[in-house]
Amino acid sequence: MASRRLAFLGGSFDPVHLGHLHLARAACERLALDTVRFLPAPSAPHKLGKPMLPVEDRIELLGLALAGEPRFGIEEHEARRGGSSYTIDTLRYLRRRFPSGTRIFFLIGGDSLRDLPQWRSAAELVAEFDLVTVSRDPRVPDDELLAPVVRAFPPSLVEKLRAAILRVEPLPVSSTEIRERVRQGLSIDGLVPPAVAQRIAERGHYRAR
Ligand code: ATP
Repeated sequence: MASRRLAFLGGSFDPVHLGHLHLARAACERLALDTVRFLPAPSAPHKLGKPMLPVEDRIELLGLALAGEPRFGIEEHEARRGGSSYTIDTLRYLRRRFPSGTRIFFLIGGDSLRDLPQWRSAAELVAEFDLVTVSRDPRVPDDELLAPVVRAFPPSLVEKLRAAILRVEPLPVSSTEIRERVRQGLSIDGLVPPAVAQRIAERGHYRAR
């Protein structure tokens, strides 16, 4: 059997939106992935202090968004562990759960490259795994995207990251925008899958935050 190609997409997913699905679909096609597993963080270390919807509620919304998407799934390891998780620990743990030979990609948005040097064991993370940077902004050239890591990593790792930049058609949606629109009583139709919009309304999520 051909070895499998699997990607994790880490994020807050507070809430999941069409931009996440667009990114996962593009990555699936361009990297010939078998599966993308969405990896919701219980609380992102760099977002500490900002209240998030409880992870069980974010997972419920993810489940609705991913229903009918056979290649997509939810990886609940970090959510079940609770507390802060570091990506390097999570990926090393998850790697052991898959047959040897499985190629594991980790998808990050272009904005995340800015923080990457501050991540726990960042150089090891880049060396051991295939980090794919998905650029959401076609105006930002590769050199500008990579500027924050050039000073922090040896050239071989910078080149590894450069070779794994994926340019996707921008779909300018963010969870921040969705939370803000719900708070203001505005429609989020067309920004999240219909079942997600419906559940957010039923549960009254984001209204009083
Ligand atoms: P927030 O607005 O709360 O910061 P977000 O919309 O960026 O959230 P996250 O859950 O933080 O959502 O994103 C998870 C991953 O998906 C990140 O790597 C992020 O860069 C990427 N991403 C988010 N929105 C889009 C989009 N519209 N197009 C492509 N990638 C996206």
